[in-house]
Order: sequence, then structure tokens, then C-alpha cells
Amino acid sequence: MIVRKNMAELEKMRCSGLLVWKILDELRRMVGEGVSTIDLEVTAEKMMTDAGARPAFKGYSTPATGTKFPFVLCTSVNDEIVHGMPSQKKVLKSGDIISIDTGVQLNGYYGDSAITVGVGEVSPEARRLMEVTRESLEMAIEKARPGNRLFDICGTVERHVTANGFSVVREFVGHGIGTQMHEEPQIPNYVDRRSENPRLKEGMVLAIEPMVNAGKPGSRVRPDKWTAVTEDGKYSAHFEHTVAITAEGPWVLTRP
Ligand code: MG
Ligand code: MG
Repeated sequence: MIVRKNMAELEKMRCSGLLVWKILDELRRMVGEGVSTIDLEVTAEKMMTDAGARPAFKGYSTPATGTKFPFVLCTSVNDEIVHGMPSQKKVLKSGDIISIDTGVQLNGYYGDSAITVGVGEVSPEARRLMEVTRESLEMAIEKARPGNRLFDICGTVERHVTANGFSVVREFVGHGIGTQMHEEPQIPNYVDRRSENPRLKEGMVLAIEPMVNAGKPGSRVRPDKWTAVTEDGKYSAHFEHTVAITAEGPWVLTRP
């Protein structure tokens, strides 16, 4: 069942969303050569604590991993698609691209967002990969309106990505969000004819998150059971926003 939220609930989700934005905005500024991914983690965790929020990712576990995720951020560098772990040893260098994904729970409601940022001199292809991924998210957000269907979102991402010669990751999907970080529906970044195509309604809140590979769509998970990487070793980019569907159109909760 897809849980719809009333205006009072959306206002609470707005608070979570703005905190996530504030954190990512700070981390975006921090990213640079010589910065380690644990530096980003430490800053993010402090901002969450200071705001009285609970990190959504730390302690999160899935049946597939069987372990609790130990960090408040997922930091996924270059060929890492999602769920990369911050590490003191992972020091950013020029030419890297880093996806930073984070979520918080505040006043009972979740917010979830991700950005991908280039470090120093990034190749034209990597820059284009980030741009196309970000564009596909913006175009999908425009489809988050009452009366449309889920596949309008999925298909919009898929078409923009493939038209630009890149590929969408199929093993990981966006999701509904609210009092749970992952609610129904699942939101693949392609049209999956086997899954349902519900009509979008006012009060639904969706975490839309294109994950896009520069090369082939294939992915595998590292022995740490979390870090998803591209099979062909090429770069991958990821952007995400938490979006409420309102009568006036899409309301992106995770930016001002
Ligand atoms: Mg996320
Ligand atoms: Mg998400």
C-alpha cells in the first residue's frame, strides 16, 4: 500500500528534507583533492546530532547484507554505484567523481537525497555523465504530478539516459518514503513491465534516484556486502531527491 501524507505530515517531511539539503550543501563545498570520505562522514554526523536528527543509514540492515551499515553517509567514488563506505584511506583526487547519499529521521519522518560531485579536473565524459543523470532526475521530478503514473517517472529517466548513450542500473531503485525510509512503491529507473504502474496521487512522497552507468548497466556487490560497483569498471553517477506530489505539482522537499 502506498501511504499518502497530509499537509501537516508533509511539513514535517519538509524539515527532514531541508536538513538533508543543508548537510549535502556543506559536503559539496568540502569535496576536494586530499579530503577523505571519512572527513565528510564526521561533518555529516555532527550536523545531524546538532539538529537532533537520527541518521537514517547508520544501523540500517537488509536481509541481503545481514550486517548493519556503519555510517551516516554512503560515499561512492568512480565505479562505485551506491552504498560505498566512508574510509580514512579513501582520499579524493583530481578526476574522481563522488556520490554522497544521506538520509535523516526528524520528528518521525525521513528525508533522503544524493548528489554526485566532481573532484578537481574531471574528464568531459564524467562531467557529461553527472549532467545527464542530474537532468534525468529533474525531468522525472516534473512527472511527479497527480494523474500521471509511476511509469511516467521510470520511463522519463530511462529515455533520457539511454538517448545520451549511458545506461540505467536495474538492481537498485527509488522508493516511497515517510515514517519509513523505504515505503511502497519501488521506483525503478526503467519501465519494468512486470511491476505495477499505480496512478500518482496527492500526498504521495517519492525518493526518485537515478543511478546511471557510463558503460554497461551491469553491477556487482563487493565482498563487504554493501558497495555496489559497475561490472565494467566505468564510472557511475547518482542523484536523488525526496519529492511530494501536491495539487500544485511536485514539491522537492530536499532543496530550498
Ligand atoms: Mg538516498
Ligand atoms: Mg533513497
